Amino acid sequence: MRNIVLFGPPGAGKGTQSALLVDHFGFVHLSTGDIFRLNIKEETVLGKLAKSYMEKGQLVPDDVTIRMLEDSANGHPDARGFVFDGFPRTTAQAGALDAFLNEKGQAISGMLALEVPEDELKVRLAKRAETSGRPDDADPAVIQKRIDVYNAETAPVADHYQAQGKYQGIEGLGSVEDIFGRLRSAIEAWA
Ligand code: ADP
Repeated sequence: MRNIVLFGPPGAGKGTQSALLVDHFGFVHLSTGDIFRLNIKEETVLGKLAKSYMEKGQLVPDDVTIRMLEDSANGHPDARGFVFDGFPRTTAQAGALDAFLNEKGQAISGMLALEVPEDELKVRLAKRAETSGRPDDADPAVIQKRIDVYNAETAPVADHYQAQGKYQGIEGLGSVEDIFGRLRSAIEAWA
């Protein structure tokens, strides 16, 4: 069982690469952003709450996010491994995820961090806005806020895994296939 944290700033390609990892390795993909967007679409109480943060580029509070992630993971008791995408995004979430997996006799195998320069992220997000229908991609001020929140609150999550010897940086520039090849090699090398 391998559990992967696919990490990186907004626009780094986490969603795209997660789909390829699922196809290749048979992991279950858990994206907190996707789950929030589904709740917004279905107009649930959680969706209404999440929307109020997401439209401003802020993080949804930890307690709500952690509970939601754990419920989602518990819905896949037979998973051969998870790709966590967009989670953990704070060190509190990282600690909660460690504790949650530990209770099940599991752990994070490694964090794979897609490294993409900020200028390129802005280009990608602006382009994604043309097709994603995501309001948080359409507004440059919200994009900047998400990048700032990433640098302030999410980047330290890398230190959490670095301290456990589980951090691995992956060059996030190049073709989708090239980047996937780097991720696949990193995972296969864990063996
Ligand atoms: P991106 O990586 O492009 O920002 P996501 O879909 O991962 O896209 O996240 C979109 C938004 O959802 C975030 O800006 C944030 O408001 C909210 N969100 C997603 N995951 C989390 C999380 N783990 N903790 C708090 N908020 C989150």
